[in-house]
Amino acid sequence: MAVCHCDQCRRQSGALAMGVFDVGAVTVADPEGLLRWYRASAAAERGFCGRCGGHLLWRLRETGETSVTAGTLDDARGLEIGAHIHVERQPGFYAFADAAPRLTGAQAAAWFASGAAQSTAGGDR
Ligand SMILES: [Zn+2]
Repeated sequence: MAVCHCDQCRRQSGALAMGVFDVGAVTVADPEGLLRWYRASAAAERGFCGRCGGHLLWRLRETGETSVTAGTLDDARGLEIGAHIHVERQPGFYAFADAAPRLTGAQAAAWFASGAAQSTAGGDR
């Protein structure tokens, strides 16, 4: 799992940072048609629940590469922090105590492209 410290994740989640883990290209079962997509930037869009507004997904528009927000899982106990991303945008009023790598946005893009983000998802998620 990556903990993202970018402005968009902070603002959309309303939290200090947002945990996400990469699941590659996925198909989401949405029998009630509640999933909504918000185009957050030229490159990416964010999926959220049309009923409660909960932020569920982040997806690269070009490739369909998708990440799931860790805070929305029923059971996230198997997740481990693999990296902190967009640390250049992290406010100075908080800090995590773990030893996971701290990556800038550019470094994070390479980390995700390498597939390392999926291997740190933890468990079988
Ligand atoms: Zn972010």
